[in-house]
Amino acid sequence: MKKAIFICFFGVVALLVAGLFLVGLVKANQQNLRQGTKIRPLVIQNGLADVRGQIHVHSYRSHDSNGSLADIVKAAKSSGVHWVILTDHVSSSKFADLLYPVNMDNVLLAFGKENGHASGGYQLSVGPGGSGKRLSILGHLNKIKSRDWLAENWNGLEIVNFLDNAKEQNWWKLLLTLNPYEKLSYGIRSNFQLWQDLSEARNKPVPIVAGPDAHENINVLGLQLDPYDVLFRLVSTHVFLEADKNSGSVELTEEKILTAIKRGRTYIAFDYLADSEGFSFAAVNGGNGKEYDFLGFTGDTVVNPEALYVKVPYKDAVRKLVELRMFKDNRLIYADKGCCLESRTPAEPGFWRVEVWYRGHPWIISGQILVK
Ligand SMILES: [Zn+2]
Repeated sequence: MKKAIFICFFGVVALLVAGLFLVGLVKANQQNLRQGTKIRPLVIQNGLADVRGQIHVHSYRSHDSNGSLADIVKAAKSSGVHWVILTDHVSSSKFADLLYPVNMDNVLLAFGKENGHASGGYQLSVGPGGSGKRLSILGHLNKIKSRDWLAENWNGLEIVNFLDNAKEQNWWKLLLTLNPYEKLSYGIRSNFQLWQDLSEARNKPVPIVAGPDAHENINVLGLQLDPYDVLFRLVSTHVFLEADKNSGSVELTEEKILTAIKRGRTYIAFDYLADSEGFSFAAVNGGNGKEYDFLGFTGDTVVNPEALYVKVPYKDAVRKLVELRMFKDNRLIYADKGCCLESRTPAEPGFWRVEVWYRGHPWIISGQILVK
């Protein structure tokens, strides 16, 4: 009897110690992430400013989140995020009370909605009454059961969704790893094929975004596993906004951000790995000793360019850790580890996109350029 009590007691203590150890590990992970981000002026090149933001964020206006707008703005400020499109689960009547964009402490908040969709995926929308008139993105792609949705008028696809990733990885297994947040930061491969299929069906590039699907509502043993600021540091959607030709300044409005997304002027970055601002992917003429002539960027269809140009913003000291991967029609065409800061690849017809990997993890996922 005494032996059984001792074993029970020992088991409970061991579980408690293991639990505290895991909590400590997650806390250390969060601290590491928080140290990595720095806020600095926008990078502008070729007349385009790289403006980091978030789409697919939930607040107190959803039944499953208590996050205030102030919490979200504070998290955005601390992680270098300039705009946030909230996509709450709310009824149309409740939705109507916040249709207008709000600028809080220099962070632009736009108000949208998330709805279930007949395909099995979810619609992330911005527009009166959740109509999606201003923006309509298909999210949670790996939940899609039917392809009938291909014909619908989506403005883009959510290629990365953290909740889908967590389910694919299994929450509890994630918690038992040394780097749970790192393991969460990728795009499910089947999403890329759906993206390619939709692009081919339309014969033009399809815009992409990343969804942290942030609710700040998962708490284990008193530890918040999904704080807004941690998720905002893991992944974001970067939009390219046109800078004023004379002053070089950038006006941040909801209209400009939605237009840039719809035009395909986006890329996804797992920002915790390294600062991606300054990344560029373009169709060009020139190079090889001649000056580059930039013909088009992501979201564009370009006829007969000489080459595709990629600029990856890293310091020479980490060159060996950077790998450039060029995809045409979702097939890997070219990979170069330790590649140059700027690269030039001959352009053949097809949908081109770029992935940049860093330290063996996906870091940057570009939008598409269609070469004809
Ligand atoms: Zn959501």
